Amino acid sequence: MVVGNWKMHGSSAALVELDGIAEAARHARVDVAVCLPATLLMAAAQRARDPIIGAQDCHAHASGSHTGDVSAAMIADAGARLTIIGHSERRRDHGETDAIVNAKLDTAIAHGLGVILCVGESEAQRREGDPAAFVCRQVAASLPAQARADRLMIAYEPLWAIGSGRSASGEQIATIHTDIRRAVQDRLGDQGADVPILYGGSVTGDNADAILGLETVDGVLVGGASLTAERLAPIIAAA
Ligand code: 13P
Repeated sequence: MVVGNWKMHGSSAALVELDGIAEAARHARVDVAVCLPATLLMAAAQRARDPIIGAQDCHAHASGSHTGDVSAAMIADAGARLTIIGHSERRRDHGETDAIVNAKLDTAIAHGLGVILCVGESEAQRREGDPAAFVCRQVAASLPAQARADRLMIAYEPLWAIGSGRSASGEQIATIHTDIRRAVQDRLGDQGADVPILYGGSVTGDNADAILGLETVDGVLVGGASLTAERLAPIIAAA
């Protein structure tokens, strides 16, 4: 799975990039999704079947008095099929805790969306502590009771690797992905083996081959390099 995250970038004019991304996906053996700002979801979903269109967040409640927020039902109604939840930028900018992330996952799954749960440690947490233990605690606390393997992906995105040009090493990724797999299986039993575990953080056409070649990596979540077809196509080709 190759998933792009446009974050707070893009415009209706930029949706033309989806045509090139769809073209790259047609020649690949992987699923490709692009998670867009809410304002672009409907136009993107109406444009074509590929790539899969996703959102970047949804509210924990199904509906209600929450000015400015977007619900899981609205995202599904716009034609998106999945959503990122718990991205570190939302945890940072909006104070999202594991409990909030848990409630959001619950609502998104109940509305038929696929979900990408993001977890990852900060630079200080890596330096001072046990990053794998921290990340596994995030996984355990964020997964709602009815999480099912067929709707769930987990993205390991170390905060220090996001947008820094410094991706985690193969060894760092493999260690944490192995522990995440164990944590997911602890929660979901045997079906936990089927949950794709993605890596995100400064993935580019230059390092995608090495990262996607790791046995523990089932895909990548790509920020900056997903904004144009030209930059995302080599990552799709590597998958
Ligand atoms: P970059 O690929 O720009 O480092 O962003 C990663 C990310 O946060 C994807 O969700």
